[in-house]
Parts: sequence; structure tokens; C-alpha cells
Amino acid sequence: MITIDGPAGAGKSTVARELARRLGYRLIDTGALYRGVAWRVREAGVDPEDRQGLERLLGSTTIDIKDGAVLVDGRDVSAEVRTAEVGELASRLAALAAVRAKVTPIQRRLAAAGGAVLEGRDTGSVVCPDAEVKFYLDASPEVRAIRRQRELAERGIAADPKAVRAGILQRDRQDMERVLAPLVVPEGATVIDSTGRSVEEVVGLMLEAVERLGCSTRS
Ligand code: C5P
Repeated sequence: MITIDGPAGAGKSTVARELARRLGYRLIDTGALYRGVAWRVREAGVDPEDRQGLERLLGSTTIDIKDGAVLVDGRDVSAEVRTAEVGELASRLAALAAVRAKVTPIQRRLAAAGGAVLEGRDTGSVVCPDAEVKFYLDASPEVRAIRRQRELAERGIAADPKAVRAGILQRDRQDMERVLAPLVVPEGATVIDSTGRSVEEVVGLMLEAVERLGCSTRS
């Protein structure tokens, strides 16, 4: 089991995908499940402050990841969950105990077979604290904002650079200051700063650590 945690825009998804490919491991995007919950909450028009309504909705909703697709009640919402609005709502909802109690066991079940790279905010600290290799990937807020904007542009979404940077800082605050499973450097994690480093360089550093810490390659 390999975990990669870090703030929004640090490059986790890209390097996690590449690392998983190089090792022949499965990739588990844990944030996608929070986004799935947020998409459902939005679609149902439930106010996140309405705790009873939220718990009722969570109780009747199934969230899963199959072959890389985010499934909410069996419907593939992989594209819909990628908007900035869903990301922002996901971060708000991820601070709530009922939401984490729903999502964390799903992540553990997905990871249980091993041979997996998990990426998110609490994968090395809460979801899989026994992971053999843990990383914390960081980058400067400027670089993270530029990457996020590029990602949005690739999907045809134009965004104001200032708004993207403000959104990232707001998400950092929400994810780091929450009481439950806040974003932290997990115990035993190797910290990598991706500012000024290419994907290839970051993945290279990770592969060195994996080798050092003795994980097996499946491919
Ligand atoms: O990584 P992504 O932007 O898709 O995550 C959306 C939100 O889900 C994050 O801002 C964070 O609040 C939450 N999250 C979390 N724990 C994880 C993964 C994501 O709380 N393991």
C-alpha cells in the first residue's frame, strides 16, 4: 500500500497515476468519493447545514469507484464531479463526521486487496496508517494555482487566476483546520516539494523511496 497526501494542486493525481502505472498498482483517488457525495448533495438540493437531511441522504446513497469511474447510485458521474463548485462543496462536506463515516470505510474496502496507490488528504494518517510507503506532496500556492488553472483550461473552463488562487487557499484552510482527519504530514511520510520539479522527477523520487522501503513491483 502506498499513500500520497497533500494540498489541492500539489500534483497528487498526476504523479499517483504515473506511479501506479509504473508499479502495476491500482490507483485509488479518495477525493473522488467526497466529490461523489458532494455531487449527490447538490443534485438533491440538501443544505449541508441540515444534518438530519444530510444523514438521510447519505443513508440512501451508494458511492463507489469502479475501473476509475465514480459511481453514485450506479450512475457514472466522473465528469460532473470535476467542477470547482463540486470540489469546494466536497471540502465543506469532508469536515463532517457523518460524511467521513460514510466515505472512509469505502476507501478502506477499495484498498484492502493491497497493490494500490491511494491519493488524498488523510490516506496515510487515517485511511491506511499501516501503509508501507507514505508520501506528502506539497508545492507553493502560486504553482498549485497555475496547475489548477491549466487543468480547468484543458477541460474548456476559463477561470480568473486570482479566483483560482483564492479558492486553493480557502480549500487549504478548510482541509488543514478541520477537527476530523485534517490534512497533516502523516507519521513516517516522505515529504516531496513538487515546486519546480517535473512529473518525471517527482515520480523518480517516489520510485527510489519505494525501492528503499521494499515494495514489490507487480508488472
Ligand atoms: O482531491 P480532491 O480535490 O478531489 O478532493 C476534494 C476534497 O475532498 C478535498 O478538498 C478534501 O476536503 C476532501 N478529501 C478528504 N480526504 C481525502 C480526499 C479528499 O477530506 N482523503
